[in-house]
Amino acid sequence: MYLCTLKNNIFFVLICGLKKTMKAIVLFGAPGSGKGTHSALIAQEYNFLHLSTGDILRAEVASKSDLGKLVDGYISKGALVPDELIINILAKKIDENIDANGIILDGFPRTVTQAEALDEMLERRGKKIDVMVDINVAEKTLFDRLVLRGSISGRADDTPETIKKRLAVYREQTEPVKAHYKRTNRYFSADNNGSVEQCFEQIKGLI
Ligand code: AMP
Repeated sequence: MYLCTLKNNIFFVLICGLKKTMKAIVLFGAPGSGKGTHSALIAQEYNFLHLSTGDILRAEVASKSDLGKLVDGYISKGALVPDELIINILAKKIDENIDANGIILDGFPRTVTQAEALDEMLERRGKKIDVMVDINVAEKTLFDRLVLRGSISGRADDTPETIKKRLAVYREQTEPVKAHYKRTNRYFSADNNGSVEQCFEQIKGLI
């Protein structure tokens, strides 16, 4: 009797282990909205992996690889790197971390093409984006935060001219991505005009 119960318990644990599904979240928002800060907080709170495409690309630039030289031309002008390139980079990162407890995507997808490619890429791997959290911040605050960040971090694309360009690129090419998640009932928004703590409480409620 005891052995039978033990066997059943082991079987149950094994099945649960096999069925364990990785949570996948998109943190969305304009440059300066706080995607990086909140992705780091979520990663810590839930033991999820934080994948920032901006960080991945900046690491390539710093390593002076051929890819780094290529993408630097786009980043320094405040333009998006081509879809095909970034989709392949992200797919590789996801494959390297397929056993993660959860993944937070910060800075991806930034175009509708990327959002569609992400759904396909995850579906092929038996996964999906559960939630997209859109972090809202007033335009003037975004600009001021980015100028301040540039003066502290020295990030090459945080100069007033490039910031204006990045915000325009966001409105034109990235904002339409929201509709993709609204259509599929995965869109949620959080307000980050107040404190980091207030916004994080909202995000935790959504996750
Ligand atoms: P971020 O750190 O997320 O603000 O990204 C910095 C820059 O990296 C952007 O302005 C783009 O040039 C490039 N970048 C990051 N993620 C993407 C993406 N998903 N698609 C295209 N370009 C990207």
